[in-house]
Amino acid sequence: MRVVKIKIKDGIGSGVITGTNYVLRYFRDIKHDPCAYCGGPANTRDHVIPKGMGGGNLGYQNVVMACRKCNQAKGNKPLLRFLLKRIGKV
Ligand SMILES: [Zn+2]
Repeated sequence: MRVVKIKIKDGIGSGVITGTNYVLRYFRDIKHDPCAYCGGPANTRDHVIPKGMGGGNLGYQNVVMACRKCNQAKGNKPLLRFLLKRIGKV
């Protein structure tokens, strides 16, 4: 499978990513998914494992749709810490 640099600008985000055409297909497939964290309408993509924690190296499999509010609240937190914080357990 050929790895290429792909320019992406789809109204949700823009930038250059390295991957295969599967990346574009994946982004297109999830574009209308609800927020992975609250189920509301999503308008951003989020790295489940933050890029600063190595999640950027995991590629598109680490990306989900998220609403801006959840994306900003999650920030660079590990997923479990974010979820526990939402229910007041940390
Ligand atoms: Zn949300």
